[in-house]
Amino acid sequence: MPLPPDPFFAGPGLDRADHLRADSEAIAALRDLSGARQLAWENGAPAIDGDGRLMWTGMTGETPLFLGLQNGVPHFSTLPDGDAPVDSRAHFGLLSLLDSAEAPIFAAALSLANWHRRHRFCSVCGAASEPNRGGWSRACSSCGAEHYPRVDPVVIMLAEHDGRLLLGRQPHYPPGRYSALAGFVEPGETIEAAVARELGEEAGIEVGDVRYIASQPWPFPSSLMIGAHADAKGDALTIDKNELDDARWFSRADVVTALEGKPDAAFLAPPRAAIARTLLEAWVDGLK
Ligand SMILES: [Zn+2]
Repeated sequence: MPLPPDPFFAGPGLDRADHLRADSEAIAALRDLSGARQLAWENGAPAIDGDGRLMWTGMTGETPLFLGLQNGVPHFSTLPDGDAPVDSRAHFGLLSLLDSAEAPIFAAALSLANWHRRHRFCSVCGAASEPNRGGWSRACSSCGAEHYPRVDPVVIMLAEHDGRLLLGRQPHYPPGRYSALAGFVEPGETIEAAVARELGEEAGIEVGDVRYIASQPWPFPSSLMIGAHADAKGDALTIDKNELDDARWFSRADVVTALEGKPDAAFLAPPRAAIARTLLEAWVDGLK
């Protein structure tokens, strides 16, 4: 059997210690420990040193968000300056430097900070809200509503027909790049229904069986990528040019040479941080 896929950003990360979040005295005691660490930020994202490790400082007393424990040491983050969520395209260079063991902590801290930056007001009554539960919710002092960090599910899928995979390119991709098709899951949909709908809308193909492969937190600003494999019933394409520049079927040999980064490869493979690359690697290894 092929090994289970291991997408970038997936992994154990910190012990989130949920039982401590509701205890404000326990959080305050952790914050006051001499060994407590606070995440450093740079250009709107967690700072990374020359070895690809996250950078930490002592506590500065700014609004602390409790990220969790590692070997008993409390780790906190703060809210970075600025309102805008980080654009993944601006940070792919940064992600190429990040140690994969640190990536789950990077994802949790950035996604949580992005949510706070975009949800400063109560969505029920419009009053200003404040971080609560160590930063894992926001409470409205006006109407009493409590709001929790949102995670937006996105399906991302390889469609296969007769041993070939369907990949597409979005207008903003670098030249030659092809990747898995993707789209947000809508209210009232299952993962399988969203996969079938997106492949129908973007490429005009009908699919039969859909199988879950792997998932990945994607902190730009706060998605959960749900990787799937779909069996296409035919290979005739009707491409939605509002969504995609192009979509094509690629052979196994095409995918292998693209993953190897060969200069004469049929396409430029997605970068290592993208779950699309993990799905392609798993497919080459026989998982589908
Ligand atoms: Zn309110």
